Amino acid sequence: MTESTLGQKQKCGFQAEVSQLMHLVTHSLYSNREIFLRELISNSSDALDKLRFLAVSEPNYLENDTELAIYIELDKEAKTLTVRDSGIGMDRKEIIEHLGTIAKSGTKEFLQALSAQQSKERELIGQFGVGFYSSFIVADKVTVRSRKAGLPENQGVEWQSTGESDFSVETIDKKTRGTEVILHLKEDATEFLDAWRIKSLVRKYSDHISFPILMKKEKIEPSEEDKDANITDVEEFETINKAQALWTLPKSQISDTEYEEFYKHISHDFSAPLAWVHNKVEGKLEYVSLLYIPKQAPFNLYEREASKGLKLYVKRVFIMDDAEQLLPMYLRFVKGVIDSHDLPLNVSRELLQNNEVIESLRSATAKRVLDLLEKMSKEETDKYLEFWQTFGAVLKEGIAEDFANKDKIATLLRFETTQSEGKADVSLSDYVARMKDKQDKIYYVTADSAAAARHSPQLEIFKQKNIEVLLLSDRVDEWLVVHLPEFEGKSLQSIAKGMLDLDTFANEEEKKAHEEVVAELKPLAEAVKAALGDAVKEVRISHRLTDSPACVVADENDLGGHVQRLLKAAGQMMPDTKPILELNPNHPIIKQLDGRKGTPEFTEWSQILLSQAILAEGGPLTDPAVFVRQLNELWKGLL
Ligand code: ADP
Repeated sequence: MTESTLGQKQKCGFQAEVSQLMHLVTHSLYSNREIFLRELISNSSDALDKLRFLAVSEPNYLENDTELAIYIELDKEAKTLTVRDSGIGMDRKEIIEHLGTIAKSGTKEFLQALSAQQSKERELIGQFGVGFYSSFIVADKVTVRSRKAGLPENQGVEWQSTGESDFSVETIDKKTRGTEVILHLKEDATEFLDAWRIKSLVRKYSDHISFPILMKKEKIEPSEEDKDANITDVEEFETINKAQALWTLPKSQISDTEYEEFYKHISHDFSAPLAWVHNKVEGKLEYVSLLYIPKQAPFNLYEREASKGLKLYVKRVFIMDDAEQLLPMYLRFVKGVIDSHDLPLNVSRELLQNNEVIESLRSATAKRVLDLLEKMSKEETDKYLEFWQTFGAVLKEGIAEDFANKDKIATLLRFETTQSEGKADVSLSDYVARMKDKQDKIYYVTADSAAAARHSPQLEIFKQKNIEVLLLSDRVDEWLVVHLPEFEGKSLQSIAKGMLDLDTFANEEEKKAHEEVVAELKPLAEAVKAALGDAVKEVRISHRLTDSPACVVADENDLGGHVQRLLKAAGQMMPDTKPILELNPNHPIIKQLDGRKGTPEFTEWSQILLSQAILAEGGPLTDPAVFVRQLNELWKGLL
């Protein structure tokens, strides 16, 4: 941000991301432009919430102005719409920071990605939450006048911008605490000067925020008394919303649309939520929780530090946003409100740590969300799969994070498998129900993508024997299998590790035949090991291959190739574990190789075999140029 001071007025440039966002917003949200009103009212309501919290310990902050309300004023002549609140306000530094920059981490990357996919702009920008900047969809100039609670009248500040590259800031006198946002409406946005239109928008979007929203009544005739007192112009305001916090109402009085609009109010999301659960709990602990599962993921879902969406209230007084203690990390996509009767009003973030009430609220919240998901998974399968596609990878973190609910989370997992058709829709219970007679393990393979997993050479025998294998390709899957060693008494087994359990795969005759071929090809395995030296831990005759000549696997207690690569990419020092090379005794190449033991080309051919087995497993070659040269040599011999 650049700053220069011109006399009293200071000119500041917007952070590049803000200009970019405003450009995107004004262009892509034109057909949704009425949402600016919801965004401004939400900001005012947040500011009033913050002031009310502050005033609990410092009543002086209220000055003489105890009314906590939002006013909307329409001026047809000046073509302005003003949203005014008596909330916490902003000082000069805050206004420059809050209305000139975007503090969310990952913004730059998000905006870059967005401009690359213009067709999806509208949908995606909704996930970002455009807030105050949506003013510029309808206004060609915006003036914000604010005074922070606790500051003297001469420390107000006025911010002004036409939404281009810069804004001005000036210190002003402001009698009342709080903020007013004055929108100088564009010529084509004068519909928002119509009181009826505004009233209906408020009812639609902001009926159930906790504070009253007031508008001037249409001009009324002065009463006889007023006339006698020489009052000719009576200003009367009316409250145009219900002004009762939604979560405090009984469920039976709330319509689905009201639940949905309230969600949009607290989340800044443009789309309706996927599901919600609303509970009033009385007894040892008293609280109300209203929890939502969004339909879309926020743009920074995978940043574990990104803010979370639960608001904590105590006896209807807002305490804080992003109350991270209320929600385990793996449920960070949940939005909503928890209103507790048991916490003190002056509760601080520090106090929330190791607080018994919070602990109970946290586990109750997790349980409610998991119950909601469980119900959805049973009764609304398609909806659940939609959820899973969006948030499944995050929910998986719960297996490692939430020991108490591990079993429940395990039943909620969905996987792509060799028997699903490109969709992650198989539960572990489905898998177990389909297990073959002698099968006692749940088999899985991990790779960078489901497609790569589907083509692993290690899968060949499983395909032949029609044994289902989970195809794992989320980064979190490697941790998942570490923390979920078994499900319903069946252990999870990587197909790329250790020896195959022949009992599952072969009858007595096949086992005997395999033992014979292992004995017969023992000299070949030894010769290949000698040729490859330290590059492999062991060479053995495989039972798992039908089409490929060779594959690499990890020893039972070593980390698999895929997880090793992930760890290395994450900067971890890794001990150099060597793969085991398995040879397919029935493959013509292996038969050929067996006949070439002791020839000059045997070593190079063994190396080619190892290199392609590593490539097929998704691994990198230590020296790819050598592999290419060796392959070309081989070709030359054929031409
Ligand atoms: P968001 O509300 O998502 O944080 P906005 O761009 O709408 O994003 O607002 C940025 C910040 O500006 C808010 O977080 C808040 O600190 C401040 N702000 C906006 N409107 C008001 C207001 N009416 N009163 C006090 N602060 C406000």
